[in-house]
Amino acid sequence: MRDHTTIDYRDCDRQVWEEELSEFVPDRILDAHIHFYWASDFPVPPPQGTRNDAGLATLNDWARVLYPGRRMQYLILGMPVVGIDVARHVETVRREIDGVPGIRHNRLVTPSCRTEDIERDLRNPQFIGLKPYRTFSVTGDIAQCRIHEFLPHEQMELADHYGLWVTMHLSRFHGCADEWNLDDLTEYTTKRYPGIKWLLAHCARSFTYWPIRQAVERLRDLPNIYYDTSAVTDVRPYITLLTKEDPKRIFWGSDGVGAAFFHGHYAALGRSWQHYDADDGDLKFPHCDGRPVLSVYEQLLSLRDAAEIAQLSESDIEGIFWRNAAAALGVPEDEGAANGS
Ligand SMILES: [Zn+2]
Repeated sequence: MRDHTTIDYRDCDRQVWEEELSEFVPDRILDAHIHFYWASDFPVPPPQGTRNDAGLATLNDWARVLYPGRRMQYLILGMPVVGIDVARHVETVRREIDGVPGIRHNRLVTPSCRTEDIERDLRNPQFIGLKPYRTFSVTGDIAQCRIHEFLPHEQMELADHYGLWVTMHLSRFHGCADEWNLDDLTEYTTKRYPGIKWLLAHCARSFTYWPIRQAVERLRDLPNIYYDTSAVTDVRPYITLLTKEDPKRIFWGSDGVGAAFFHGHYAALGRSWQHYDADDGDLKFPHCDGRPVLSVYEQLLSLRDAAEIAQLSESDIEGIFWRNAAAALGVPEDEGAANGS
């Protein structure tokens, strides 16, 4: 995998920011889906190969070039890579964010985590939720697993008891449109675990138009459902969400550093999609001056266009970038910014 920790910001990125995005993106941003990375959290080198460390300084360095002058806050998610030493990762995160304003954390959990360890870590007021991931599914099937197969019931009971957040990247081929996922979310939010607040990652894992179109009418009737925008670059899921859901349930998220700060996008191909790094694409651009921009800028452009189509107000847009998440995650307005600005 290409390393995206080193900042690669090109003239074409700057042009898009200055001419199209700087007026759209508000002064305050709470990025509700972003990750740290430290190779030393792995007992043996991680399977995906070399990648540079990314701590708070890297996130803030990126933020400085991506969104100049903005005050940044973050909901940092545990790094869900198989082979990571969870306890070590939790401790590294804790040390990195200790006392830094404007930062909250969803702790990495795998089915083998003990609830007493999770409970102890969540006493830290900066730790507000859980980050499970499908690659840790007890079934070994990372593409077709159900929620309880990678977030066991005893962890959901704990999250319900303490009213924790769960950042949920839905598995199964149809993501949020999958009947089992919809039935499980209905049962959990309305009956079994009413205390859990679900933050459905990647527009409820709708990188293309189809899943959220199928699911939005059921999801919008459920309590405690929220969405982060991370990594979604197709405009259509945003149009569906912004016109059919309550915009207050939508939080900006980038999925930086590795999954969003590269030149390319998430290509929607019918009902499927694929991560696409244009630097690896061997493209020829016979008809134009080929200058792909950062995936996170593709995401911002799509969100801007959808906001226009949905006729969102300035206040709605401020809400998506900061206020909705700050209020929901319990970050007081005067707490300060993680980048010190
Ligand atoms: Zn992520």
